[in-house]
Amino acid sequence: MDESVVDNYAKLSAEVKKHTGDHLFVMSHYRNDQVQKALYEQDKKTAALPGASEHQTGLALNVYVSHYAGTGFLKSSAGQFVDKSCWKYGFIIRYPLVKKHITGIRFEPWHIRYVGLPHSEIIYKKGLNT
Ligand SMILES: [Zn+2]
Repeated sequence: MDESVVDNYAKLSAEVKKHTGDHLFVMSHYRNDQVQKALYEQDKKTAALPGASEHQTGLALNVYVSHYAGTGFLKSSAGQFVDKSCWKYGFIIRYPLVKKHITGIRFEPWHIRYVGLPHSEIIYKKGLNT
């Protein structure tokens, strides 16, 4: 992942552990064009076109906790903590449910995108991603 993400992800992960007792894991991080191409070939419905995935920027992460991955992530305390508080560490939930008609991407509560502070705070508080 991009260097700018590392320390902030460590802070987010530590806060998740502190508040929920769960360890936040990274399922997917940086992908090069070759990896994205392979994913797209496997599943054209859910994988982004090569060159169009945020994972290719090194600024996006797919996260999960034990027993709660994918859409189930939001059902966990950790998922709810990430949903409400990841902005404090520079992240946003990039593909919220209510913006599906605009982004064209299904709701992905596990996909967090680093934009940095103060941008994440502005985006969260003004509801620009919801
Ligand atoms: Zn993702």
